[in-house]
Amino acid sequence: MPEAAVEAALQVLRHGRLHRYNLAEGETGEVALLEREFADFTGARFALAVTSGGYGLATALRAHGTQPGDPVLTNAFTLAPVPGAIASMGAKPVFVETTETLTLDLDHLAEQAEASGASILMLSHMRGHQPDMEAVMALAEKYGLTVIEDCAHTMGGSWDGVTSGRHGASACFSAQTYKHINSGEGGFLITDDPEVAARAVLLSGSYMLYDRHGAAPDREVFEPLRDVTPNVSGRMDHLRAAILRPQLADLPAQVARWDALHAAMEEGLGNLGRLKLIARDPKLVRVGSSFQFRLPEHAPGEIAEFVARCAARGVELKWFGADRAAGFTSTYRNWAYAEPPVLPQTDRVMAGLLDMRLPLTFSTADCALIARIIASEV
Ligand SMILES: *Cc1c(COP(=O)(O)O)cnc(C)c1O
Repeated sequence: MPEAAVEAALQVLRHGRLHRYNLAEGETGEVALLEREFADFTGARFALAVTSGGYGLATALRAHGTQPGDPVLTNAFTLAPVPGAIASMGAKPVFVETTETLTLDLDHLAEQAEASGASILMLSHMRGHQPDMEAVMALAEKYGLTVIEDCAHTMGGSWDGVTSGRHGASACFSAQTYKHINSGEGGFLITDDPEVAARAVLLSGSYMLYDRHGAAPDREVFEPLRDVTPNVSGRMDHLRAAILRPQLADLPAQVARWDALHAAMEEGLGNLGRLKLIARDPKLVRVGSSFQFRLPEHAPGEIAEFVARCAARGVELKWFGADRAAGFTSTYRNWAYAEPPVLPQTDRVMAGLLDMRLPLTFSTADCALIARIIASEV
């Protein structure tokens, strides 16, 4: 937490106005300022700060008109809040297979779009990996899909020079502790669509005080929507916004640090026959806040032993091939409420997939040491 964030938090605590609409005469407020800065950072016309990334995703679905029972296409490889947001609408996640580069399988996307008749693709850039975005958008066009991007792991990243989250109609970000800026819990929704933005603001619980927003549409846009949009409270407060603003300003520098850590891991593990790094399209500017590799030839028992041996040497790896969901690590098979079909390609990729965080408290020398330990245990 930068010192500027601690200072900003103390100022909010001292004046005590924590609710985003509680403003002194002439005051803009931390939340509205953060929204303005987040819109500028991403290049979006509109930005809304909310309570979590998952809340942002559910709100985006609602704002785009998702109804109970609707099929919503999404990645089979993602985090639990993504299918959870879809299920919270009473809608049905339709999972799409995963490639060896941990991105959406576009052939399967076309098949599933055709078979399901879905009108929304909730595209999750899980662990910062992105599919060929031009190809995704061409398919979206062909099948009439509105794309909502889940950018929880790509805040600060881009594809072919386009900021992550700017291909789809809307995009959501998380400011939860394990993401790229940290307010404990928090999130954002961005869009260029004035009606979607106005609906999202009303949904987030604006109490008709939408003129106190930093990057929301003009008053007229709200008029036809204000009495037909329910309040589903999920506002951000000034304390969180105050600690996020200095972190957002620092993000480009942090992305460079993450990239160096990620590069140190790749350098240490690049030439091991049975350990496969995840190939990256040169168009992708990643945020290397986590590191994945695959052991496609290892049997499950071997991987479990390998994970235990690394743990004994202080290297904590997460494995997506385990039977039970543990902590943050789960697979589509663990989301039984969505009645997922068997996805053999995703199963094959997950069976050998290992994952670790690269917190900024690590140095590149730490990463080189961790890579040596993994290399010797593999
Ligand atoms: C963290 C995360 C989210 C949103 O998470 P919240 O905990 O609700 O902020 C969404 N998608 C992915 C892939 C995530 O990792």
